[in-house]
Amino acid sequence: MVVVGAGMAGVQTAVALREQGFTGTVTVLGAEPHPPYDRPPLSKAVLLGKADGSAFDIDFPALGIDLLLGREALTVRHGDHVLDTDAGPLPYDALVLATGAEPVLLPGTEGVPGVHLLRTLDDAERLRPVLADQHDVVVVGAGWIGAEFATAAREAGCAVTVVEAADRPLAGALPPEVAAPMTAWYTDLGVDLRTHARVRRVEPGAVLLDDGTRIPAGAVLVGIGARPATGWLAGSGIALGDHGEVVTDAHLRTSAPDVYAVGDCASFPSARYAGRLLIHHWDNALQGPRAVAANILAGATGAPSVVYDPVPYFWSEQFGRFVQYAGHHADADAMIWRGDSSGPAWSVCWLRDGRLVALLAVGRPRDLAQGRRLIEAGATMDVEVLKDAAKPLKSA
Ligand code: FAD
Repeated sequence: MVVVGAGMAGVQTAVALREQGFTGTVTVLGAEPHPPYDRPPLSKAVLLGKADGSAFDIDFPALGIDLLLGREALTVRHGDHVLDTDAGPLPYDALVLATGAEPVLLPGTEGVPGVHLLRTLDDAERLRPVLADQHDVVVVGAGWIGAEFATAAREAGCAVTVVEAADRPLAGALPPEVAAPMTAWYTDLGVDLRTHARVRRVEPGAVLLDDGTRIPAGAVLVGIGARPATGWLAGSGIALGDHGEVVTDAHLRTSAPDVYAVGDCASFPSARYAGRLLIHHWDNALQGPRAVAANILAGATGAPSVVYDPVPYFWSEQFGRFVQYAGHHADADAMIWRGDSSGPAWSVCWLRDGRLVALLAVGRPRDLAQGRRLIEAGATMDVEVLKDAAKPLKSA
């Protein structure tokens, strides 16, 4: 078994293969030189110097997992069952693509001094002194990463301006009425949030906006999204989707025989949500690998294949709040609030045909835990109970 990518999804695939009883060779190669590590702490404890790193607590030698670090996959010759790498070819019986995602660059800023991204441990280590020295920072993009970075930068004592092209934070992820209360989170923490604002260029020590405003910037953090890291697969014949992601079937199999894909680099069809999902969150990189491992092993044992159709889940820690989301609200036909969105704890529930399909919880982890189970069960809800934040979430 060969796994490309030593992030969460790649490492969990290798571990799951062992947990599920595979005894043959498992090789994981990763382009980064560091021992495999977890990314969520990079925008939280690691950035603030509260943790040195976030290496996974996994004993790879004891599990018989061969790690090839600092090694890059160059292409797949699937007809020959060979992965070409920068240190030569690797034959495989089954191959798992888990190359994750890479941040989108702000045009014209590549290599410009003082402009940062936040995806890797190296990125976080470059940003630590920026925070420690309390530079004025400009964050481009009020998405998940932008919000978490702004929170850490304020905690470190930096003056923070967030520049967002849309009219609100998280415009790509949440409807306007749900994102609206989040605007106050920025201002309450002393962050200068500029919406409807576009960067014209980054100059030494400043960011120039389209409207001519010049914002002082000792450093700039670009957080405008991430794309599947699949450029290396161009020309391999493995089918890629509209966002450059590896397209899989419901069993996480790609278009090439014995090649699977999982985590941030792949999309899968969801019967639950009647559409294809491309998820860039940690829980998907934890759950997907178990299905991949089961399906690889099912091929050998004749066991039935596992369909991967999870209720997506993620969390974010921003502006002193714990934000959690489960499900997928794109096709919802009703939205119900629980609690006062100007307060510290509230939730939003999305329904379709009376069934709970998604839930956002701010400071209400119990809602999230109960809601997630009800979404999984496809439960029909009593709207009056839902509206009453004092009552636990339960089906009709
Ligand atoms: P990655 O973690 O990106 O791992 C892929 C690995 O593959 C990388 O190490 C890469 O170097 C390697 N690779 C790429 N191309 C090649 C190649 N050709 N050859 C060899 N190796 C290659 N999610 C949440 O739900 N909550 C959070 O709070 C949260 N916080 C986050 C904070 C930060 C700063 C970041 C960056 C992400 C955060 N996420 C969070 C998202 C979550 O971390 C990702 O969804 C998860 O890491 C995806 O895992 P992955 O293994 O698919 O990809």
